[in-house]
Amino acid sequence: MRHSVGIVHRLPGWLLVFVGLTSAGIAASLSPDPLSSLRPGHPRLLATAADFAALSGRAGQDPLLAATLDHVRQQAELFVAVPVVEYKLVGPRLLDQSRAALNRILTCALAFRLTGDARFRDRAVKEMLTAAAFRDWNPSHFLDVAEMSTALALGYDWLYADLTAGERGAVKQALLDKALSFAPAAYAKGGPTDKRLWFATRVNNWNQVCNGGLLAAALALADEEPALARTVIAGVCVSLPRAVTAYDPDGAYPEGPGYWDYGTTYNVLALAMLDSALGTRFDLDRSPAFQRTALYRLAVQGPTGLGFNYADGGAGMGASPAFTWLAQRFGPPAALAHSRALLADDVKKKVNARGGDRFFALHALWFPAVAKNPNDASSETPLDFHFRGPADIVLLRSAWGDPRALFVGFKAGDNSANHSHLDLGSFVLDADGVRWAADLGPDDYNLPAYFGAQRWTYFRLNNRSHNTLTPGHALQNAKAVAPIVSFGSTPNRAFAVADLTPAYPGAAKRMLRGLTLLDRARVLVQDDIAGLKSGTSLRWTMVTTAKIALSADGRTATLTEKGRTLRAEILAPANGPKFSVDSTRPPTSAENPNTGTTLLAIDTIPSSADSRLAVLLTPVGDRWPANLPPPELTPFPAR
Ligand SMILES: [Zn+2]
Repeated sequence: MRHSVGIVHRLPGWLLVFVGLTSAGIAASLSPDPLSSLRPGHPRLLATAADFAALSGRAGQDPLLAATLDHVRQQAELFVAVPVVEYKLVGPRLLDQSRAALNRILTCALAFRLTGDARFRDRAVKEMLTAAAFRDWNPSHFLDVAEMSTALALGYDWLYADLTAGERGAVKQALLDKALSFAPAAYAKGGPTDKRLWFATRVNNWNQVCNGGLLAAALALADEEPALARTVIAGVCVSLPRAVTAYDPDGAYPEGPGYWDYGTTYNVLALAMLDSALGTRFDLDRSPAFQRTALYRLAVQGPTGLGFNYADGGAGMGASPAFTWLAQRFGPPAALAHSRALLADDVKKKVNARGGDRFFALHALWFPAVAKNPNDASSETPLDFHFRGPADIVLLRSAWGDPRALFVGFKAGDNSANHSHLDLGSFVLDADGVRWAADLGPDDYNLPAYFGAQRWTYFRLNNRSHNTLTPGHALQNAKAVAPIVSFGSTPNRAFAVADLTPAYPGAAKRMLRGLTLLDRARVLVQDDIAGLKSGTSLRWTMVTTAKIALSADGRTATLTEKGRTLRAEILAPANGPKFSVDSTRPPTSAENPNTGTTLLAIDTIPSSADSRLAVLLTPVGDRWPANLPPPELTPFPAR
């Protein structure tokens, strides 16, 4: 599974010549002019009038597409009656309003194109005109501008023929004043000249979202404002490839699967809008790591349906139109089949007035039509993965296509990655349809200095709430890089070893943690510590939503949930340490109380500098092999 790939972005040839000039300079020098292939008229973003018109006919041949369009219409019906967006900040953000506008405008504009029902058009227009009249789109938090820009640009383009001259003028002026006016400063030579526009040179989700939002506006208005459009296109061609390096080398996303969805959706939107409006993606999708990222998205979701939610992100993972877009172009076939299964689940959910995924309407345009038998496709996909990069992660499972399969996600890598938690050595575990070992996910972004000096004081963000090993009650070093040092995958034994030594400077000479999936039926968590500073305690923790019962000797914990059972046994050391059950209550009342969860813990002070702590996690029940012999505990292979 492991292979080395370097980043091989290919900037368009015409652009390479001009990198280093101001974007205005680039724009003036483009040859050929990127707008020479601009599709005339509207709609031209993501779909043409013919594409929209063909949808209902195609739905006659695929019940899932029919259900998807029906879901859009039902959602639009509810949106018609809700109050319009208002200029209301939450903390420093207008983002909730931008996202609500995007959801309503995309949904209602598509519903209008499908049905011709004027109520849907009117509702999308009302939302656009309200947002257009805001004093600004909150440029001090530029994501808010980007999502609002996307909303109005797509609404303008998709509804253009049905807008009055006055409506067009108001929306166009808002896109110019509140979004595109920032483009020359964002894409200036030597980097942004306005600190609110730092996204342009960063490697994270902001880059993708903000480039996508400005590009939407630029392409919607490209015939009316060609100079500005050229500036944005040239700027995006320089800026966006930086963000794409985040997927290096194997396709994993440093900010976790939640932010994968956010950043990747806008990255794919940018590519798809270039494609539909200009007939080219300027090779912005050439990165092999980016082309592998649908595989990452497939592998990072456990058989329970929950994601391995390292970093700031919840565990829920629904259907993603960007996942479909990527799977259709770059594979693997199993990803496309999986995307279809996720969509089939999502269309069954009841719509509500708040709205679900704001990009849901894009499922109609990037629909996961699957020709191949999904079971065949699944069997081609490896069971075990190691994705390297700032998030150095390993995913092991007993089977594909089985909601009761055993699955572990194991986290190593760089604690300083954007949105990272102090979660080196942590893992999640699914079996029998239950998530037994969980990551609590993010806390409230509006907690004081959540992204600043207080970040590591918050329980959900530091190692004390993660399923890892902590010496001396220390916090992990926030700049530590702890790599996966070995990985192996055979039918009966799959494993990975992380070197956690850098996570706790000075605590020990060497701290290695291995996770081994044995017989595709149980998981051994083994910590080998060498040269532990005398008298240092070790704390082993695992967060669970299950009920925990401890044996009389405290050496076995029986976890139960939904009528299923997982057994945890301390295999090493042979005597001494016991399990305890501890609270997940955070130190302050402002933090999430983590209701419904507990910590399974082991606290020990090893008597010798070199020690081993080994815990075996075994799902118990008729579908699992009984009476397997205890595994042999061996030192990890030398590096
Ligand atoms: Zn976490």
